[in-house]
Amino acid sequence: MLYQSFLIKYAEIATKGKNRYLFEDALVRQIRRALRPVDGVFRVSKEQGRIYAHAEGEYDYDEAVEALGRVFGIVAICPVVILEDEGFEKLKQDVIAYLDQAYPDKRKTFKVMARRARKNYPKNSGEINADLGEAVLNAFEEIRVDVHKPDFYLNVEIREKIYVYSQSIPGAGGMPVGTAGKAMLLLSGGIDSPVAGWMVAKRGAKIDAVYFHAPPYTSERAKQKVVDLAAQVARYCGTIELHVINFTDIQLYIYETCPHDELTILMRRYMMRIAEQIAVENGCLGLVTGESIGQVASQTMQSLMATNEVCTLPVYRPLIAFDKQDIVTVSEKIGTYETSILPFEDCCTIFVAKHPVTKPNLKAIRRSEEKLGEKIDDMVQTALDSREIIRVGAVTLAE
Ligand code: ATP
Ligand code: MG
Repeated sequence: MLYQSFLIKYAEIATKGKNRYLFEDALVRQIRRALRPVDGVFRVSKEQGRIYAHAEGEYDYDEAVEALGRVFGIVAICPVVILEDEGFEKLKQDVIAYLDQAYPDKRKTFKVMARRARKNYPKNSGEINADLGEAVLNAFEEIRVDVHKPDFYLNVEIREKIYVYSQSIPGAGGMPVGTAGKAMLLLSGGIDSPVAGWMVAKRGAKIDAVYFHAPPYTSERAKQKVVDLAAQVARYCGTIELHVINFTDIQLYIYETCPHDELTILMRRYMMRIAEQIAVENGCLGLVTGESIGQVASQTMQSLMATNEVCTLPVYRPLIAFDKQDIVTVSEKIGTYETSILPFEDCCTIFVAKHPVTKPNLKAIRRSEEKLGEKIDDMVQTALDSREIIRVGAVTLAE
């Protein structure tokens, strides 16, 4: 194995001034979490303002890179070779041996980028660039220097030890989970809501979720699909507490009592109310949905206004201006798409009217809710009290 360590590069969090250490510590925790299921033993540490993940002994390189690729807050993952300082001659040999292994095909252009963080090193960075460059050119016939647009930069950082790296694997970006409070995701079995949750987690929020099902109209498989989706999102953001609410009685009662064309809006208002209550109880600072303007009848701006009205917590709708295809592209990238398109009925689709209102009249909606009386409040309380709570971690995912 060429590499035993990864240098973790992060950008945005470096700008947080005095709180910087909080962000770095959160990132270290997230890296540890992500590497836990990977084959191997890893040590993650903060050293001189940098974060490294070191593998102790054998490990699965591809798995490690993939796991690190899911950690928000990482801009780039650089596999690095760490050398003891045993003089410049030895460094030359080691760098040549490194390149020989890292680049079996030598028809490449490169540029040396030395950085002398330890000022008592006998050569300055300009000298290191020149002398190492020359040694590499002498060692390999086909390799060339290109100072403007090289195929790779040969980074050599002189610190207590010497760090050599030339690969930079793009990271997930965003902010480390745990730096932005917690949000309650309304997670359905569709394409949109897992993407919405992933996006908010990418900004550093922890995620919990609520799913409304309607047995026996919706099946156990439909619920399992949502658990699987939560597990896929959890691969990025860590354990998700999934609250499963039995929505059947509420749905039936609204269906019996109110005009059918208002059913979707009324259901969505009760979903938001219930989600908000669980959110508040669990210390969440906002709700997250997968809504996008105009996608369906319940997502016109009028409908969104009608569903939004019942909440006081902020409702985050990261997909609000996304086209469906763009949402699909993200869901494919993060690995939720295949599960999302499995054909299991959703609780919303069962009682849906042929012609739902697209411009709900708020007064009419409120009047319909009055007809539901106190009975609906009891039903909401029963649904809350009888909810099932599933702790979904990345390991829940059947692979
Ligand atoms: P999705 O693809 O996320 O299911 P959608 O396009 O099907 O979205 P709707 O069914 O109108 O849209 O739902 C809008 C949003 O409401 C969803 O993105 C989700 O956040 C929430 N939602 C809908 N149904 C449920 C449910 N059964 N349980 C939890 N949340 C739901
Ligand atoms: Mg849906």
